[in-house]
Amino acid sequence: MSANAHYPQINPPHRLLMGPGPINADPRVLRAMASQLVGQYDPVMTGYMNEVMALYRDVFRTQNRWTMLVDGTSRAGIEAILVSAIRPGDKVLVPVFGRFGHLLCEIARRCRAEVHAIEAPWGEVFTPDQIEEAIKKVKPRLLLTVQGDTSTTMLQPLAELGDICRRHGVLFYTDATASLGGNELQTDAWGLDAVSAGLQKCLGGPSGSSPVTLSAQMEEAIRRRKHVEEGIRTAAHEDGDEEMIYSNYFDLGMVMDYWGPERLNHHTEATSMLFAARECARIMLEEGMDNLIARHALHGDALLAGIQGMGLEPFGDLRHKMNNVLGVVIPSQVHGEAVRKLLLEDFHIEIGTSFGPLQGKIWRIGTMGYNARKDCVLQTLTALEAVLNRLGFKTTQGAAMQAAWDVYARSAV
Ligand SMILES: *Cc1c(COP(=O)(O)O)cnc(C)c1O
Repeated sequence: MSANAHYPQINPPHRLLMGPGPINADPRVLRAMASQLVGQYDPVMTGYMNEVMALYRDVFRTQNRWTMLVDGTSRAGIEAILVSAIRPGDKVLVPVFGRFGHLLCEIARRCRAEVHAIEAPWGEVFTPDQIEEAIKKVKPRLLLTVQGDTSTTMLQPLAELGDICRRHGVLFYTDATASLGGNELQTDAWGLDAVSAGLQKCLGGPSGSSPVTLSAQMEEAIRRRKHVEEGIRTAAHEDGDEEMIYSNYFDLGMVMDYWGPERLNHHTEATSMLFAARECARIMLEEGMDNLIARHALHGDALLAGIQGMGLEPFGDLRHKMNNVLGVVIPSQVHGEAVRKLLLEDFHIEIGTSFGPLQGKIWRIGTMGYNARKDCVLQTLTALEAVLNRLGFKTTQGAAMQAAWDVYARSAV
């Protein structure tokens, strides 16, 4: 038998991805990715790279020169920033309110940081005072935060943390992978020194590219590090005298020199992913960041109304929930995985499960990016309600969808 018979052309089923990410990519992004390649230093390609930098400045709401892509999933952006900024022995403070806070601690430890974590119960966030208290006590060089932690669906307020960090001479980073585009993020106004993201949540693309932005202070901190052994680099740039960055691929000093006018050879930019990232930004900016965030808020509200309308309980402190993901407490009458299985098999709708302390306790339903749409929300609510009734959790059928519809009617969408 030929390979073609064993392995037919890929043709995945059409799923509606309503979990915490990835979500369905906008077809425009998929079309951009199908474009033919150009050479790494073709002026057309370097032109696209410059455009991507300009587009993502508007997405991140920053004037930062160094706004670019790290090739890899969101974790690549996180790791590049941490490994480039953290010197062995540096103290870092991590406010942990979910799984991704633990990830920051774990990566920082690998960078040989002295990691200090403060923890909030899952479903809650920190006040600025709590974070300032910890900064006074620990005196960290960096504050590492997660803006939206999809594991708990909570959104940490960041607006006041930049001033606190300035007062105490702390560099301020946030992982905005889950929140960017669906919730307000003001890089410059909030005094952030570094932000990283990914395409597969509210940006409406596939995973595999991580937009990042770095402040001038962060650039300076990274430039002070040594980048390569003497003699290897043909760079015009002087290496700093601080300890060498322990990664070549994630050395943001070298990545900056590749994206900057020097165009020093580093990796080969992941061309098709750059096309995707570029189209994601074009789509977002066409709508406008404020409209995009408002759209996520509207569909998040409609989903919440529907969930409450079928008698289910949302998870966590609703004042601090992300617009784009909702935690839903699994009622005791049903098995969470049986519900997810029937939704996937009979409706081709995927919703999310949970990890750690919340495993088996909540589902997570996302309304983001291309799937932050009325039809997606109404279909998901209707299917979920039908499945719940089928499996023994009785509702007034139709009430959920009517409740969501009311939200839409009030907003005249
Ligand atoms: C989803 C998510 C990520 C994803 O990281 P990947 O490397 O793209 O899988 C990272 N951080 C947060 C806060 C997330 O919600």
